Amino acid sequence: MTPKKAIFPGSFDPFTRGHEDIVRRASKLFDEVIIGLGHNTKKHNRYFEVNGMVEKIQTVFKDEPKVSVQIYNELTAGFAQRLGADYLIRGLRNTTDFEYENSISQVNRYLFKDLETIFLITSPEYAAISSSIIREVHKYGGDVSEFLPFEI
Ligand code: ADP
Repeated sequence: MTPKKAIFPGSFDPFTRGHEDIVRRASKLFDEVIIGLGHNTKKHNRYFEVNGMVEKIQTVFKDEPKVSVQIYNELTAGFAQRLGADYLIRGLRNTTDFEYENSISQVNRYLFKDLETIFLITSPEYAAISSSIIREVHKYGGDVSEFLPFEI
């Protein structure tokens, strides 16, 4: 059987314990999980620097041979196709996520017809964690260490 390869795309600005949980659960379902950090190199609109974030994510999964990290700067469907990944993983926290994810999964399948989006429902202890709130708290000097799988 051909190995089941999945991508987990996102901005990961920053990568959180909620993201980590999704990756660990996905790695039980797939032979390979590639975390794709989507980054437009022409736009410098991130809060946390991209290469530093990749290194942090790599340390989290250093003992997990199925998991790797890549930066991509193209359509997510194109990235999946290029890697030969037929599965795209996304996490769902609430109905707002659902509305958004529903539309993008339709578009992604239109762009790459064999691409199946797999949704994993957030674990309750991570349901309230979002990268945007972490950025906001960090900006004003708040302690965000509880929400991250590494020191920032
Ligand atoms: P994007 O900018 O593509 O939405 P994010 O980095 O914000 O990327 O999120 C990547 C994926 O992780 C999305 O599917 C998002 O719904 C999911 N996600 C984010 N936070 C959590 C969480 N706390 N629990 C489960 N899934 C999450």
